[in-house]
Amino acid sequence: MKMTSCDFDVIVVGGGCAGLWAAACSADEGASTLLLEKASEVGDRVVCAEGVGARGLRSVIEPSSEWIAATIDGARLYAPDGKWYEIEQPGCGFVLRKDRFILGLAEIAAKRGVEIRTSAFGSLVSLADDHISIEACVDGCREQLRARALIAADGIRCEISRRAGILGSLQVNEIFSCAQDTVSGISVDTHFVEFHFGRRIAPGGYAWVFPKGRDRANVGVGIVFDTRQSDCASEYLARFKIERCPESSIERAIVGGVPSVSNPFEGYGRGIFAAGDAARVADPISGAGIVPALESGAIAGRAAAAYSRGRLSLRASEEAYRSELRHLWRDRTLRFAIRRIMMRASDSDLCRLLARSAEFFAGGNRLDGDPIGLVRFLIRAMPDVFRVVKHLVKV
Ligand SMILES: Cc1cc2nc3c(=O)[nH]c(=O)nc-3n(C[C@H](O)[C@H](O)[C@H](O)COP(=O)(O)OP(=O)(O)OC[C@H]3O[C@@H](n4cnc5c(N)ncnc54)[C@H](O)[C@@H]3O)c2cc1C
Repeated sequence: MKMTSCDFDVIVVGGGCAGLWAAACSADEGASTLLLEKASEVGDRVVCAEGVGARGLRSVIEPSSEWIAATIDGARLYAPDGKWYEIEQPGCGFVLRKDRFILGLAEIAAKRGVEIRTSAFGSLVSLADDHISIEACVDGCREQLRARALIAADGIRCEISRRAGILGSLQVNEIFSCAQDTVSGISVDTHFVEFHFGRRIAPGGYAWVFPKGRDRANVGVGIVFDTRQSDCASEYLARFKIERCPESSIERAIVGGVPSVSNPFEGYGRGIFAAGDAARVADPISGAGIVPALESGAIAGRAAAAYSRGRLSLRASEEAYRSELRHLWRDRTLRFAIRRIMMRASDSDLCRLLARSAEFFAGGNRLDGDPIGLVRFLIRAMPDVFRVVKHLVKV
């Protein structure tokens, strides 16, 4: 069969951390790669609390000091009964300057040969057997482009995959609904993150304080909606701030969602590979999505390049993509089950859970260590709460 000529081997839609890293990895594999970002600059409208585990980030990329607002040496966990637990773990994480981090990823991608177009809205036009047509709309001017493969990294709305009929919409209880203010004039320990739990503070989720300097922090709330509750995340945040930092002033306010699903995107898509929130790979327990976005970006970038350069058939490249994603998330069913426990836990269960978790970490275990070790410990310590996940873990 004669192959249709294409403008690029791979087009990436979305210039967040998933799309930029996918594009960098695709170009690294020799594929001519174009990235379309609808914002006027990459890193322009970061919607994120910017916290990241050091080990996870370093497994993908060594962070530049330019990207880091604070190095984290531990966490304080606040229980609904007013008790709190300090978990000291020097160097366990970072609060990023995510706008600079994104710019850094863009520089790496550009150095590897990725063409990055900003103010460029990408949409799917059609899928043919040997190519994909994408429309790039820049300042009202429309251009049709052809690529062998497409990476959908367009964030939680997943418009590319939904338009292709590959993904449906998220249910409301599959989203952590978040509101966050970056504030100044707050008293914080510059090297400790705070997590606050309880149904009054954040039903089904938690409130956070991530320091970004001496008197600055990202203060936010993530909740999971249920039909009996009428307040939105912003209202929980307003109440939390009255208690935690009444004197602070807001520099920037954002709202957004993080997908929290048991089955991420698996890419049965005729040359469409998804990454990041568009692949719904964020951690279902914590909502952390930066490292999963980078990891899935690398997987999507490599698979799209292998297919578009003719090194693998479409079927083989999709199989490689799926099996790498599955390997990455081999404990996802367990994580999702734990998320459901957390969502339903009463305040007294949460108090016990935090006290027990603190014991686990006091025993020398790492916050960024093996989460299954903590689950095993909790199954033994709180069999009444954790019995529903017992069959998923060898205790
Ligand atoms: C309030 C909040 C706090 C969070 N805090 C943390 C945290 O502390 N740590 C953590 O690990 N995770 C956190 N997350 C999750 C994390 O931010 C995301 O999982 C991660 O950023 C996903 O990256 P992404 O590249 O997939 O998507 P995004 O960052 O959403 O990037 C998608 C990009 O695609 C662009 N785009 C969309 N559609 C188009 C189009 N049609 N054409 C061109 N461009 C398009 C958008 O402009 C955007 O730049 C948080 C999320 C929220 C909402």
